[in-house]
Amino acid sequence: MRQIPLLFAALSIVLAAIAQTGLNSLPEVEFSQLSQRDPNPLGERALSINPTQWKHGETEHYIYHFAHSYVATPISVEAEFHYRVVAKELERDHSQGSLFILRNPEQKFSGNLLGHEIVHLVLHRFYADGIPCWLNEGIAQYISKSAHASYQRARGYISKPHSEAIATEEMIPLATLVRLTRPPSDRVETFYDESERLVRFLVATDKPSFLALLDALGRHQPFETALPRIYPAKFATVATLEEKFREYAAKDFGTSLQQAEE
Ligand SMILES: [Zn+2]
Repeated sequence: MRQIPLLFAALSIVLAAIAQTGLNSLPEVEFSQLSQRDPNPLGERALSINPTQWKHGETEHYIYHFAHSYVATPISVEAEFHYRVVAKELERDHSQGSLFILRNPEQKFSGNLLGHEIVHLVLHRFYADGIPCWLNEGIAQYISKSAHASYQRARGYISKPHSEAIATEEMIPLATLVRLTRPPSDRVETFYDESERLVRFLVATDKPSFLALLDALGRHQPFETALPRIYPAKFATVATLEEKFREYAAKDFGTSLQQAEE
């Protein structure tokens, strides 16, 4: 099984804090001893900047390039956890290829962010030609929210995944949503919340159908034809889906139930 190289160029206060909990540190491996070189030119370039500052390590599914083991160690634990969750959700357990996570120093590792990024990495391996933006972001949010909650629970915290409801008047029409190639700058939050709810709704309606839809959209079939073919009894048209989804998307909006839901 090939591994996903992770590159950590930035420190994170959050992770440094997590590292204080005393995990065994990620063992260092000589660069020449890694099971796989990174074919990604961006990664090669990053590694060539101050080559002596990089240390290297491996776990089952990832190769790590890092400067500080107290940063890489908790990431390695969480990254393996997310890999298992994503692979299980997508009912896949193999992957090929190689990818980097590039860390922006301004970004904080907190909440479901690492999980969200890992979902993108794994999706990109399974669907190298890309999948629609709403589906990519929706799955990343959907899986990473659940994964983050179970990861927190495994570490002794009380945590439940939290899905945001969308006010009916805020909803982006589905015909528009499925065509967007990036989150619209004026409605970023609605875009992420609605995409997550739509994925959640389609999975809850029928998980095998959702996975079939993902494959169809990964092969660039139009949403309008793939949906009724895969969910014939439930959603004969996008309009039928929209009608049922509107209700689901707005569920518990603006109530205290919203926090407690799921
Ligand atoms: Zn994303």
